[in-house]
Amino acid sequence: MFGRRKKLDKREQKPVKVFGRRIRDLLLRRGGGGEAFYEELEDLLVEADFGASAAVEIVDELREFRNGKPGGWSREELISDLKNLIRPSLRIADLSPDPDKMTLYLVLGVNGAGKTTTIAKMAYLFAQESPGKIVLAAGDTFRAAAIDQLEIHGKRVGARVVRQDHGSDPGAVIYDAINSAAAHGDKLIIADTAGRMHNRTNLVKELSKIDRIAREQLGKENDYRKILVIDATTGQNGMRQAETFHEAIGVDAVIMTKYDSSAKGGLVAAISRKLNLPFAFLGRGEGMEDLVPFNPEAYLDELLAGD
Ligand code: GDP
Repeated sequence: MFGRRKKLDKREQKPVKVFGRRIRDLLLRRGGGGEAFYEELEDLLVEADFGASAAVEIVDELREFRNGKPGGWSREELISDLKNLIRPSLRIADLSPDPDKMTLYLVLGVNGAGKTTTIAKMAYLFAQESPGKIVLAAGDTFRAAAIDQLEIHGKRVGARVVRQDHGSDPGAVIYDAINSAAAHGDKLIIADTAGRMHNRTNLVKELSKIDRIAREQLGKENDYRKILVIDATTGQNGMRQAETFHEAIGVDAVIMTKYDSSAKGGLVAAISRKLNLPFAFLGRGEGMEDLVPFNPEAYLDELLAGD
């Protein structure tokens, strides 16, 4: 049965982002000028998940560019200027672990965002670079299933999993993981955290405690980063999650998952623009190899491709 299944190549698997195609259609319909053109362009930006304020700003800037120039926008000009407006806020977070330091990546995000899968993908990727074993810390002690799932992923990618019982203190798990890594000479720890967003006060309290323990145990000489996982299909909800986590504990890098399942794509630009956060990876599927380093130019090309 497996032999007969057609092997899809990566381009066939991912749905095309619709923004570029809609821009092409808009230009055909409106001829690239006039008030209706700018209004529709603003709507397209909102529909592509850029968020209302960024959409207004971008269209205002485009209007200014055009001021005084005769004729309407050509497709090439519009795409080039859109790229020029979006590009400056896009930043890359390099998460390649420094082999001379101990590194802790604390992975944050709401339940279902793709944290556990992403932790496994990162472990899979960094296993080639990191000396020693990679340690996964089962810091989502609130869900028994999350601990078990991390254990399964750990086995699959050859990483050691540090865990405690369901309901135990997540700070204690992180503490154990750091000490266990130090004892074994392991350099990289990737830690899961609980993703309940029901109450901001609790979230801040819980994460602040983990944050304090991680800082104290690692010391300044080591590398500690908080990585937020956002599901690309959640639209402006994803924007709110980014704001909440960033305000709560400070985010160092973002990974956007399910980018393969989203036909939009503007959320990366929206988060970059509003929160000035760098992106490390885009998740482009459920397989271990479907974690692609964020590349601003490739992102812009894909977002604005019109075919
Ligand atoms: P968690 O609750 O945040 O730990 O989320 P999980 O890691 O359990 O992921 C939730 C679901 O999203 C699972 O079915 C994953 O296979 C799926 N998932 C995670 N990342 C991606 C991705 O990049 N693309 C796709 N299509 N699915 C993903």
